[in-house]
Amino acid sequence: MAQAGKGKLNFRCPSCFARDIDVDMFYDGDRKEYYCLRCQFTGTEEDVLRGNEVIRLRYKDMLTRFTSFDFD
Ligand SMILES: [Zn+2]
Repeated sequence: MAQAGKGKLNFRCPSCFARDIDVDMFYDGDRKEYYCLRCQFTGTEEDVLRGNEVIRLRYKDMLTRFTSFDFD
């Protein structure tokens, strides 16, 4: 069984977070990949960062307060 543990940084699983589930990923030092226990997502640090970037785009407007609902 491969040695596994938390990586240097806690990365959020982009696949789970896309479904509004906040899960920290584990790091497999042998394969140099992060993986998620919840959804079987595996990926390199680059994959995870790219995934998180997509989510950030998607959720960007969460930080915007909409004061006008006059869309017509
Ligand atoms: Zn996941």
